[in-house]
Amino acid sequence: MGELNAELGAALASARAWLEEFAEEGIERAQAPTARAAESAEPESRAEPRVATPSPAAPTADLFGETPAFGEDANLDSVREALGECTRCRLSEGRSRIVFGDGNPEAELMFVGEGPGAEEDRRGLPFVGRAGELLTAMIEKGLGIPRADVYICNIVKCRPPENRTPLADEVATCQPFLDGQIAAVKPRVIVALGKPATSLLLGRDVAITRLRGSWQDYRGIPVMPTLHPAYVLRQYTDANRRAVWDDLRAALARARGEA
Ligand code: URA
Repeated sequence: MGELNAELGAALASARAWLEEFAEEGIERAQAPTARAAESAEPESRAEPRVATPSPAAPTADLFGETPAFGEDANLDSVREALGECTRCRLSEGRSRIVFGDGNPEAELMFVGEGPGAEEDRRGLPFVGRAGELLTAMIEKGLGIPRADVYICNIVKCRPPENRTPLADEVATCQPFLDGQIAAVKPRVIVALGKPATSLLLGRDVAITRLRGSWQDYRGIPVMPTLHPAYVLRQYTDANRRAVWDDLRAALARARGEA
């Protein structure tokens, strides 16, 4: 009987692990029609986690000498200037505006999201749609600091068509500019919002619901992975909201040298 119980327990644990993995990696595919319908009404409100496999490979644009590497002396103006009216990848074809970044160029806390949605594309600013409202509330009401004190950007600077996940080559082509922004801002802590941003910064495919809340590293800068606000909007549970609050509080405390 004891053995049977142990076997049942093991089977249940493995079924639970499988379900968690499925929920994380397959949720968008499982909900694809709903997600698309929701996106046409609220284009910035993406399903999360999304399955973007980042490529840590060197940007192809480098082959043509079009993408400079930014060093310690990078500043946001030089990175923006180097980006120019970018046509390095197909995302440029559908964008209205490049969404470079927003906030304090000397921020201690930097937030990295996935890519602009419709409202961001229209206004040229990151996180100004519904997900952005939630992020802004978390920063201002939750952490008690003005949004303008932090720096916010995305792994790709142009809106993917129909808000699809940016493809690996698009992410890789844009990566030098994100690296440049990080080199310029030199934040004490980076908050990676969701799976694609976390995967890119860590150079490996991650399961965000497992990794969130645990300190990671990008070139010596502590990274706090957390759930994307669009995911929290879709899965608006106490547990998800509490998880993000905890992660953001930990990030701010570390940025302030309090943890
Ligand atoms: N808006 C952004 O700027 N980035 C996201 O990842 C989602 C919405």
